[in-house]
Amino acid sequence: MKNTKLYILSFFFCVNVFIWYGVFVEERNFVTVAFLDVGQGDAIFIESLDGKQILIDGGANSQVLQQLAKVMPFYDRSIDMVILTHPDQDHIGGLPAVLESYTVDFVMESGVGSDNGTYEEFENIIQKKQIQKITAQQGQKIFLCNLREVRLPEEPHGCESYLEVLFPVGDLDISEFEPNTASVVLKLTHGENSFLFTGDSPRSIEKYLVESLGDYIDVDVLKLGHHGSKTSTSDLFLGFTSPEYTIASVGENNSYGHPHQEILDLLRQFEIPLLRTDKEGTIIFKSDGRSLLLE
Ligand SMILES: [Zn+2]
Repeated sequence: MKNTKLYILSFFFCVNVFIWYGVFVEERNFVTVAFLDVGQGDAIFIESLDGKQILIDGGANSQVLQQLAKVMPFYDRSIDMVILTHPDQDHIGGLPAVLESYTVDFVMESGVGSDNGTYEEFENIIQKKQIQKITAQQGQKIFLCNLREVRLPEEPHGCESYLEVLFPVGDLDISEFEPNTASVVLKLTHGENSFLFTGDSPRSIEKYLVESLGDYIDVDVLKLGHHGSKTSTSDLFLGFTSPEYTIASVGENNSYGHPHQEILDLLRQFEIPLLRTDKEGTIIFKSDGRSLLLE
């Protein structure tokens, strides 16, 4: 009798281990890119095939924590890298809470600070937690697959997914730039699929990217600069990026009138669909390296 009980207990123990093993080493067939619904602001969550996670910006406040909880399992308390495109409140606001709530290995920044209190708070936590800080420079690549840690910059070794810094450019002194102009611009490549994340980059930087990189900025998904403001997304830039989808990360009835009517008209003229976080909530793409799936 005692033995039978033991067998039964052992059996359930094994089943339990098997299930948890399945949960933890779950093979992903997709790279996930989620434009989180954080109201008026930006927060983009990326997860690679082997579960590497990157958060680009954190919205205006700690609302980002609830949104992260929807795209991350409850037991996962770490994010490999946090990238701050620029320190305006609608991008940095939720990041102190993220650094306090999750273990973060790397923080990447544009190199332009701010005297708003949140930036100071953010920097203090980075120091306190001894998080490795990286200043973004064109040419840096963050490889997302099968790595023990995020390495940069490093030559590809059969790795088909990476996040690449397109701006700021190393030899350009951006210290006097206003924050939007110095926004970190990133391109994510997974096989044949690609995304462009532009922070709040204005048209002057878009022009620079077109002139210096040409067709290299041709992507499948473009996050519109500055929440669809008319200060970004020139017709030249839209032509060169030629996205299948555009994203406006905006709050409902925001006081800026984002996305601006001029941009809506331009997208209609180019026949490019626009997805908006104020209408759709969080927008999730899955890429298998060949095609994009919109959840
Ligand atoms: Zn913004």
